Amino acid sequence: MSQPQAVPAGAARAAASIEHPLDVALPYDIRPRAAKAVRDIQLQQFVANATTVKDRGRRDAFRAAFGARADQVRELAGRIKQHTLDHLDWYLDRFISAAQAAGVTVHLARDAAEANRICLRLAKDYGSKLCVKSKSMVTEEIGLVPELQAAGVETIETDLGEFIIQLDHDAPSHIVTPMIHKDRAAVGRAFQRELGVPYTEDPLTLAGIARDYLRQKYREADLGISGANFLVAKTGSIVLCTNEGNGRFCTSAPPVQIAVAGIEKLIPRMEHLGVMLKVLARSATAQPLTCYTHIITGPARERERGGPQAVHLVLLDNGRSEILREETRELLRCIRCGACLNACPVYRKIGGHSYGSVYSGPIGAVITPLLKGVANYPDLPHASSLCGACYQACPVKIDLPSQLIGLRQRMVRTRVTGWRERLAFRAWAWSLRQTWSYRWMAKVQRWALRRMARHDGLSGGDSTPMTSSGWIQKGPGPIAGWTSQRDFPAPAATSFREWWEGRGPSS
Ligand code: SF4
Repeated sequence: MSQPQAVPAGAARAAASIEHPLDVALPYDIRPRAAKAVRDIQLQQFVANATTVKDRGRRDAFRAAFGARADQVRELAGRIKQHTLDHLDWYLDRFISAAQAAGVTVHLARDAAEANRICLRLAKDYGSKLCVKSKSMVTEEIGLVPELQAAGVETIETDLGEFIIQLDHDAPSHIVTPMIHKDRAAVGRAFQRELGVPYTEDPLTLAGIARDYLRQKYREADLGISGANFLVAKTGSIVLCTNEGNGRFCTSAPPVQIAVAGIEKLIPRMEHLGVMLKVLARSATAQPLTCYTHIITGPARERERGGPQAVHLVLLDNGRSEILREETRELLRCIRCGACLNACPVYRKIGGHSYGSVYSGPIGAVITPLLKGVANYPDLPHASSLCGACYQACPVKIDLPSQLIGLRQRMVRTRVTGWRERLAFRAWAWSLRQTWSYRWMAKVQRWALRRMARHDGLSGGDSTPMTSSGWIQKGPGPIAGWTSQRDFPAPAATSFREWWEGRGPSS
C-alpha cells in the first residue's frame, strides 16, 4: 500500500474553494438548497437508503430488547434527563466538585467565543502543536477546529466519517453518520487528492489507509480533544461512546486532554448511565451498546501506565440557559442519537446540509433557531410536515412537533413572520369561523381549481359529482410548491355537504 503523503497545496486550495455547507447568509433561506437537494438523485438514494435502514434497525432493536415495554424505557430515559434539567444548578455544582476532586480542571464558557478562547489558551500554555480529536457535535457548534488550525495547532479529526469530511473540506450532514451524503467513490477521490494515495473504492483498503495515517498522528499528538455523551454528576466522570476506538486513543495517548460538553449532558448517577447507554446505542445505530464506552474520571493516577497527565473540561452554555426556560426545556433532553433525522420524511428528502447548520433534521429545526436566533433561521420551524415520526422515534420522548408549533407561534408573536402572512392567516382563521364565508370560500376555491384541471381521462372523467375529475399540473400560490413535484387532484363538482343536503330523506 502506498504511504500517505503531505497534502498537495494546490489540491487543498481547489477543494477549499468548494462552497462550504455551513457558510450561509443570514437570514437563512432554506429553499434554494432544499430545491437543489431534491433534484440530486444520488443524494436522495444515499440518504433515503441509509436512513430507512437505520430507522428500521432502531425499531427492531427496541422491540427485541424491550418488547412491549419499549415505551416505558423511553419514558424512563426522558424522566432521568428531565429531572436533571429541572435541578440543573444543583447537579452542575455537584458534578464540578466531584470532577475537581478527581483532578479535572473545569472551565465555564458562556458562549462559543469564550469556549474557543479557553481551548486556544490551554493549547498555547501546553505548547501544543498537534491535536487529535474525536467526534463531537458541540465542537462543530462552536467551530473549534478552524480556530485551532488558525492558531497553528494542526488538528486531525479521527472518527473515520469526520476524517473524510475534514479531508474533503466538507461539513457533517447527520449527527451520527456525518458522511451520509457521500459514497465510497467520493472517499476514494478525497484520499487520492489529499493523501496522495492511488485511487481505490475498496472500503477495506480505504479504512487501512486512514488507520495508518491516524495511528502515526496518535503517536505524535500532544493534545487530545473530545466531546462527551454524558457527564455523571456524582462521580465527576466524562462518558464517551464510540464505535471505532478513536475516542480512546484521543483521550489516552496525548499527555493533555480537553473535553468540551454542553451543560445539558449531565445525568445524576452511574445507575442512570445504564439506561441512557441502552437507549442511545439502539436509537443511533441499532446496536445493544456502542463498541467502546469510555468513562474518564480524572487524569492518569500514579502507577497507571496510560492516560493523560492533565484533563480539562469546558462546560458550555452558548444559549442553553435560554432553552432551559420551562416551555423549551425538554429540548435539552436530547442525547444526539440522530433517530429523529432517520425517521423524518423531510430530512430524508433534503439531507442535512439543507438546514444550513450543524444540527439538522427535526431537532436541528428547533434548536438551531433557538441557539442562533429565530430571525436568522425563520424557515427551519416550517421545515416539517408535523407528521410526528420524530416524536415516535425519540428515545427521550421530546415532543418535537409541539416544539415546532411553539416556535412558529413565537415567530408570529415576535413579528418575525411578515405582516402579509400574519394578515392572511388571521383572515383565514376568521373566515373559517363563519359558516357563510366558509361555504362561500369553499365554492370559489372549488370553481377555480376545477377550471385549472386537465381532464385526461385517468380519473374517469366526471363520472359522479362526488369524485375528483382531472389533475392540476401547475397550481397557483400556495399549491405551486406541491405541483412543482406532483399533480394535484381537482376537487369534485359537488362538496360532501351539498351532496348530503341534497340526497333527500333516507328510507
Ligand atoms: S431529539 Fe430525540 S431522536 Fe432527535 S437526536 Fe435528540 S434524542 Fe435523538
